[in-house]
Amino acid sequence: MNSAPNAPSSPKKASLSGILEMLPDFSLRSRNSFGFEALAEQAYSITDAEQIGAVMEGIDATGLPWRVLGGGSNVILAPTLPGVTLLMDITGQTITHQDGSGTVITVGAGVNWHDFVLWTLDHGLPGLENLALIPGTVGAAPIQNIGAYGVEVGEYIQSIKAFDCESKALVTIAASDCAFTYRNSLFKENPHRYIITRVHFYLPAAWSPRLRYADLAAAFANRHAPTAEEVMVAVCKIRNRKLPDPKLIGNAGSFFQNPIVEKAQYLALLKQFPELVSYPEGDEGSGKRKLAAGWMIDRCGFKGVRAGAVGVYQHQALVLVNHGGGNADSVLALAKTIQDKVQDTFGVTLAIEPIRY
Ligand code: FAD
Ligand code: NAP
Repeated sequence: MNSAPNAPSSPKKASLSGILEMLPDFSLRSRNSFGFEALAEQAYSITDAEQIGAVMEGIDATGLPWRVLGGGSNVILAPTLPGVTLLMDITGQTITHQDGSGTVITVGAGVNWHDFVLWTLDHGLPGLENLALIPGTVGAAPIQNIGAYGVEVGEYIQSIKAFDCESKALVTIAASDCAFTYRNSLFKENPHRYIITRVHFYLPAAWSPRLRYADLAAAFANRHAPTAEEVMVAVCKIRNRKLPDPKLIGNAGSFFQNPIVEKAQYLALLKQFPELVSYPEGDEGSGKRKLAAGWMIDRCGFKGVRAGAVGVYQHQALVLVNHGGGNADSVLALAKTIQDKVQDTFGVTLAIEPIRY
């Protein structure tokens, strides 16, 4: 008889921290949005920043491999995750300062991102509405500086509280030191250095809707300026139309990043592909362009293609999906086929966005 998922298995391994319960052979099937079968050899649910030091001491003493997991919506998990997996479950959100110019909110790393966005709007605090419906946790949002519809989370972060695995202490990092850039940050660049425990957001009182993206602009064409709640509702509608719901079809959102190329390469590509979709990137005058990776993949004929249990989403070629029974190897094999074809066709390398564990 199969044992129930996440039932304790024997023989029992000892907890690394002494104070925290260790969850042996913990199923991550429902904690990764691809829905891959994955077992964490030893999992620890972190509900308080103070618990991290003790677990890290155990990790240092044993030399076990380790990683942090939030909601699992930007990862590609192998069938077995050796060593230690820290499940970031710190909750709580509080307004910690408010004056005429803005509001500071302190939020636990384990809080669901979309729930937090709704909470801000319920409290009359606009700013994050373009980032509605992004899956995952608040603690993971700064890792790749989540972005959608022309807004990046880094713009609204004041500072970050994290366990620094080098100094073995809780530190506060100002947003200006987080190196937030397009889908990147200090944290993504230094993967085993910081474990984010809380995020301090600053939402300015002055607000106006940000409707630069065509889909969003179209939703409010010929209308007075919408409220933040109306923008949030429009974002949710657009996303539900274009993106697969991980509860129904496993996926990790955009599988590839939009490549950024120099002006000369862009102009050469444009000559060859006059219909190439691209946008200016970075400082005006740099000439750099962000190429729409989804368009290039579509142009190579992959939209809606299926390779066994995995495939390319039929409404958005940037999203790879698990139709059921897929795994890390099958999705990475499909990704490689796409990368090779895009490289051959456009001379552009597509980088994979989700993190592999
Ligand atoms: P996880 O997948 O659990 O982890 C991601 C990475 O962050 C891992 O390296 C992990 O180790 C690390 N990490 C997680 N928590 C912490 C922590 N507390 N401290 C240190 N490291 C940590 N992304 C966008 O930017 N924009 C979008 O519009 C968007 N849309 C999406 C739509 C769909 C349908 C899906 C499935 C994904 C989408 N994503 C998008 C990607 C994903 O939602 C984000 O990257 C999200 O922030 C991941 O959060 P998570 O908690 O699931 O992180
Ligand atoms: P879209 O609006 O169809 O646009 C296609 C691509 O073109 C996007 O990748 C976007 O870049 C870029 N783009 C469109 N209008 C732009 C503008 N005015 N200025 C600069 N760039 C522009 O994209 P979509 O697939 O429906 O997604 C909507 C938003 O949600 C996008 O911002 C996208 O990044 C975000 N999203 C991200 C993920 C993820 O996992 N990372 C998954 C789903 C959706 P950007 O990607 O740089 O915005």
